[in-house]
Amino acid sequence: MLFRLCVFLVFQLAGVAAGAQLGGRWGALIGLALGGGLWFGLDLLRAAHVLRWLRENGTAGAPALRGLWGEVSDRVRRLLRQREQQTQDGEARLREFLAAIQASPIGVVLLDKAGRIEWCNQIAAAQFDFDLQRDVLQVIGNLVREPAFARYWAAGDYAHEISIPGPGSTVSRPVRLSVQLHPYGAGRKLLLSRDVTALEQAEAMRRDFIANVSHEIRTPLTVLSGFVETLRTLPLGEDERSRYLALMAQQSQRMQTLVSDLLTLSRLEGSPPPATGVWTPMSSLLERSLQEAQTLSALITHGERVGHDLRPIWEPDLRGLGEIAGAPDELHSALSNLLNNAVRYTPAGSLVEIRWQMLSEGRAEFSVKDSGPGIAPEHLPRLTERFYRVDRSRSRDTGGTGLGLAIVKHIVQRHGAELRIASTPGLGSIFSIVFPANRVRMSHPAPPEPAPSPVAAPSTESLQK
Ligand code: ADP
Repeated sequence: MLFRLCVFLVFQLAGVAAGAQLGGRWGALIGLALGGGLWFGLDLLRAAHVLRWLRENGTAGAPALRGLWGEVSDRVRRLLRQREQQTQDGEARLREFLAAIQASPIGVVLLDKAGRIEWCNQIAAAQFDFDLQRDVLQVIGNLVREPAFARYWAAGDYAHEISIPGPGSTVSRPVRLSVQLHPYGAGRKLLLSRDVTALEQAEAMRRDFIANVSHEIRTPLTVLSGFVETLRTLPLGEDERSRYLALMAQQSQRMQTLVSDLLTLSRLEGSPPPATGVWTPMSSLLERSLQEAQTLSALITHGERVGHDLRPIWEPDLRGLGEIAGAPDELHSALSNLLNNAVRYTPAGSLVEIRWQMLSEGRAEFSVKDSGPGIAPEHLPRLTERFYRVDRSRSRDTGGTGLGLAIVKHIVQRHGAELRIASTPGLGSIFSIVFPANRVRMSHPAPPEPAPSPVAAPSTESLQK
């Protein structure tokens, strides 16, 4: 400011000096006024320079001025730079924030006061089938037309989430969305959505499972308590008594089998996958399973002369049959479940073929082919569900729990193998397990003599598939 005053005085003094020389006292006075006016004019020019620069709103190219106007333009330039930096920082933060919401597994929709979509992330767009460009500023009620959502919106009570079917949901492929509105700001709303299809299916399965277990246990329990009551109240003869006791033993055996299968399932679900370093000879697994199947066949056919024709088939050069890596008990359980099912669902006297063969790329396949009633195609995808039965009475009569194939499926998955089911109604079924190469090895030393067939009088054939 002092500098500015000094320059002003210098201009006036220069005017006075020039005026006094040219016109005496009056000249000095006029020089004084002209000096002041000249300074003022120059100052106005500098101010106009700064103003023009400000109007052009540029941070670069600020006028190179000294004095007050130089300082003003310098400070304004710094302020503008600061503001620009802050805007850039704010925009970067907003971009990061939006990227975080985009990455969220939850659908997010921002709605204005009128319920129009201002912004939504890709998850929400996919869940509600929104078009990210076209549907911006569309009223949400026009796009989500589910009556339950319309009622929820109108009621204005958003304390709880609601579950609605997603667009494209069908009976065979249901999609469920959980939706909740959160009011914020001045009348705006945040809509959060989650795909709860798997969750609701798991919950339904849990309910069904409990209902099924209760039903399976209640039936033999009712029979048992009926017999207990009869034995307590009626004076029965020895024959009748022992017949009733045998029936009671049968029912308690049924419950025991059920509980044992349930425990097996929960053990399979809760334990880590079996190690790949424990090798079990396939011959011993086959032998054990075949013997059990023969015992079962004799039991089911009540010792009739014609049992099932259980026929193991493998390539003749597969001496020793190789080895499988995994949990021996689980492998035995899977093999014997398939074999027992073939016996249980195939009429006495029919042929059941048991194959063990190498496939391409080092894989191997165990398969059981029966000539039973077969299974209609619509049942095939559901066979491994717990308690799913096609032939309910045959299952119960032969001691089935409805859990066998569910157990097999778990075991197969835990061993990285694949369960394949092929069936033709009226002709029979083939259940097979394909083991991956890392769980099969054929390096087992060949026995000196051809190994005798593990079952009585089986015919060993060359494999032809
Ligand atoms: P279950 O204890 O009832 O046999 P599973 O889980 O082992 O239960 O089998 C499920 C259903 O699949 C059975 O109830 C039966 O209806 C059908 N099933 C299984 N194996 C065969 C087969 N080899 N032939 C015909 N139906 C079969």
